[in-house]
Amino acid sequence: MPAKELNKPCMECKDAEFELTVRKRQLCSLCFKRFIAHKVQSRLSVYRAFGLDGPKTQLLLPVSLGVSSSVLLHILNTDRQHRLDNGRPVGYDFKILVIEPSTVAATGIPFDQNYEALQKNFPMHTISRIPFHSIFDYAPEMVGIMKEYAGSKFIDDSTRSNEERLAAFRASISTPTSRTDVDTVLLTRLIVEFAKKSGCESIIWGDSDSRLAAKALAGVAKGRGSSLTWQVSDGMSPWGVRFEYPLRDLYKAELLQYESVCAELSDVVIPDQPPSENVLTKNLSIDELMLRYVQNQGAKYPGVMANVARTANKLNPSASDGAPTCALCASLLGNVKGNSGVTVANQAEDNHSSQFCYGCMRSRPDELC
Ligand SMILES: [Zn+2]
Ligand SMILES: [Zn+2]
Repeated sequence: MPAKELNKPCMECKDAEFELTVRKRQLCSLCFKRFIAHKVQSRLSVYRAFGLDGPKTQLLLPVSLGVSSSVLLHILNTDRQHRLDNGRPVGYDFKILVIEPSTVAATGIPFDQNYEALQKNFPMHTISRIPFHSIFDYAPEMVGIMKEYAGSKFIDDSTRSNEERLAAFRASISTPTSRTDVDTVLLTRLIVEFAKKSGCESIIWGDSDSRLAAKALAGVAKGRGSSLTWQVSDGMSPWGVRFEYPLRDLYKAELLQYESVCAELSDVVIPDQPPSENVLTKNLSIDELMLRYVQNQGAKYPGVMANVARTANKLNPSASDGAPTCALCASLLGNVKGNSGVTVANQAEDNHSSQFCYGCMRSRPDELC
């Protein structure tokens, strides 16, 4: 049979027209998806240690309905389906958690249709949907910690709804950087507690290489260097649940390319809001600033940004057996030696501050200043 007449054949299979260029290779959409999926699967191969009948590890995949976590879901789902169809060991199973986006940020963007598309396109998975303020149900001990943390700026009224209670706490924190910072800490806690209650051993986060680089840079700027070991690197978190970042070898732009050739995701993903040129830089949180910076610079020098995330992944947690940790974010307290030397001793300004780390103290409502 004569070979197909192709204008510009895919460099991999040479059997289809190329559609996408990735890392200087021109690939058809099938070969492109395979290339991206391979980068993810090799990160999760540790969970395939058991044979067909071996125990399955339960993982939790938090899906924000943004591009990255949705692409991760698609890759894991496709892989699982292939394995089941071919009688090959799956090794792990995963549950999906959606924290209602409208309860995290008041963007006013409706997402019910995206959620319905998620359920429709991925029917073989357990999908849970919980609001941010269910943190009062999943981690009831956080109320006491929030009160200590915010001091007189936050008066909790347990007769009010969880939604109002969380809103009151968030309102006590004044700057955008601090609010984003504390939100991230609380969201992580909520997802961890959900994972534990639903029997998941690991959480697989949908952070791209670009996002991890932004987190590493912002973490240092915010005095949270010591928690980078679990916010950016794969390994055990302080709460006894492992954290994995299987998208760490992929740039955000590559995930956007993947989404563009994935019909199943077109109704699921809520597109990123284009950065508004009108927003004053001083009104952006450090996290947003760093993400913009990494995305701009990463487009020009992808290797540099990849290096930031790769270097941060080599951080080892300091020996922490029995050492006191922060009540809010679980970072080590006190003078931390070694690779996480950004945390410094709390010069206890009052009786309560000694239970919070330097990073958390910086985001605290500034009643003491
Ligand atoms: Zn191909
Ligand atoms: Zn802390």
